[in-house]
Amino acid sequence: MGKYEPIKSPDASTIFPYHELTPPTIDDLRHAHSVVQEHLPRTPLVRSEWLSHELDAEVYLKREDVSPIGAFKVRGGVYLVSQLDDEFREPGLIAASTGNHGQSIAYAGREFEVPVVICVPDDANPGKVASMERLGAEVLHQGDDFDEAREHAEHLASEEGYRYVHSANEPHLIAGVGTAGLEVIEDRPEVDVLFSPVGGGSSASGYCLSVGELTDAEIIGVQSSAAPGMHQAWRDGTLEPYPTMETFAEGLATRVPFALTVDILREYLDDFVLVDDTDLKSALRGMLEHEHILIEGASASAVAGALAMTDELTGKTVVMPTSGRNLSIENLKSLFE
Ligand SMILES: *Cc1c(COP(=O)(O)O)cnc(C)c1O
Repeated sequence: MGKYEPIKSPDASTIFPYHELTPPTIDDLRHAHSVVQEHLPRTPLVRSEWLSHELDAEVYLKREDVSPIGAFKVRGGVYLVSQLDDEFREPGLIAASTGNHGQSIAYAGREFEVPVVICVPDDANPGKVASMERLGAEVLHQGDDFDEAREHAEHLASEEGYRYVHSANEPHLIAGVGTAGLEVIEDRPEVDVLFSPVGGGSSASGYCLSVGELTDAEIIGVQSSAAPGMHQAWRDGTLEPYPTMETFAEGLATRVPFALTVDILREYLDDFVLVDDTDLKSALRGMLEHEHILIEGASASAVAGALAMTDELTGKTVVMPTSGRNLSIENLKSLFE
């Protein structure tokens, strides 16, 4: 495998022709916003007294954790399924997920009455699995990690004709997720810096194409150093899978970088920092102790990234999403060991 060439050689995870690699436009995001507003409550942008004090800055949390399903991803699922081609309503949708992407597609499938199958790794967060099932999805456990579950979902999609919903190479998903950024601009147009977690890169891509495009703000991605596949792809311009993936934050747990989001992040992201899992845990504890907000590991990356750059943020207006709240009891306990 050589260097990444957009269009000509998409990543190995994109095997269906409907996985388009053209980034959504600002008009796509605006259209997505009109759909998302009809189906989901708007999330508040709330000042964090703790982080404002720690960073000597004006810090606001985009409270995506209060969304239905407890994560921002539901925005993308709702928009993608609202635009689904009729030919896919039967047999429906399939996705691979460590939890929140699956809940998002399950929620949207219920909303638009389309059947949903989700493939999860064997050790998936049990709370996330229970939620997918409550939303009416069929959940299949398959493989040791996200990428193995993904390969199984791809296989089933080609056998059974499901619409395979990729977790990143989906312009509609990114447009839906980007609606959070449009709301940030409406509420705080003076934003200087926005930190986004990076797993598969849809969240950061959404902020790049909204806040990054329409304001002068810097967009900074944050990923766990224990799962740095997207960071490597962004830095080196390669779509080479990373050999290991060991983060406890399942929302960031992918080895394989994705072509569309790597493309967008390489073009628009201002900086990309890595934080250790111990920093994620200490950010989680800080949010719980000082803000009394329970977020999950993936979500803590934005907080940890900002805390690692304290000196550069003085006096600025800083926004970070609390991207999700679906922390397992097991991981919650591990914070205090
Ligand atoms: C998926 C997820 C992320 C990472 O988002 P990507 O779009 O995959 O980069 C961050 N936080 C939470 C809570 C998530 O579910």
